[in-house]
Amino acid sequence: MKLCMDLHTHTISSGHAYSTLHENIAAAKAEGLSILGMSDHGPGMPGGPDAIYFRNFKCIPRRYGELRLVCGAEANIMDYEGRLDLEDSVLEKLDYVIASMHILCVAPGTMAENTAASVRAMRNPFVRILGHPDDSRYPLNREEIVLAAKEEGVAIEINNASLHPKSARKGGRENILELLALCAKHRTPVLLGTDSHICDTIGHFEETLKLLSETDFPEELVLNTRPENLERILERKGF
Ligand SMILES: [Zn+2]
Ligand SMILES: [Zn+2]
Repeated sequence: MKLCMDLHTHTISSGHAYSTLHENIAAAKAEGLSILGMSDHGPGMPGGPDAIYFRNFKCIPRRYGELRLVCGAEANIMDYEGRLDLEDSVLEKLDYVIASMHILCVAPGTMAENTAASVRAMRNPFVRILGHPDDSRYPLNREEIVLAAKEEGVAIEINNASLHPKSARKGGRENILELLALCAKHRTPVLLGTDSHICDTIGHFEETLKLLSETDFPEELVLNTRPENLERILERKGF
């Protein structure tokens, strides 16, 4: 399976990541990607950049030779209402937004609370991707999540870093298998993301690809396979 985009990557600006934007760009080119997304954490994450960081993306070129760059954020879901840590006046300036739950930003609630938080975040018109809904520390009704994503035209992320043996998230493998089964059942596309915190992992989806082949996941439901799917994600047109 040829994959052309990685929309979940961090730079040193996230506070706990280790490469610069230009190092990430070079790595994406070396991996043969045609699209790279920069998605640093929002300010709710300790060490994360202030809102002004996201307001100034106008100064960043969106093309580096053959590589298209899109500049977004991994906004933190801050409560069970699905509120994010960046205001709409910032979100509207971004090329795209990933919304994710992180232990340092929102305490795990009940399955109903976590699911409500995720669904409400997806209803935010600026959100394009739901990040890593694969963490056993946040019990989720994943069928509800998949159906809401389909209805809202939000991409469900399959996060390669959740499959890392040292990932802080728990239960990645079984939860991703559940997500893949539900997405296949409901014909809901998925977006693979590396969640790179260093340039070396950009474009490396190996662990995810193993699961896709184990489960015979339909290739046409993998958004990363076609560059034109980027517009569907950015414009939230549905899939
Ligand atoms: Zn995250
Ligand atoms: Zn991330």
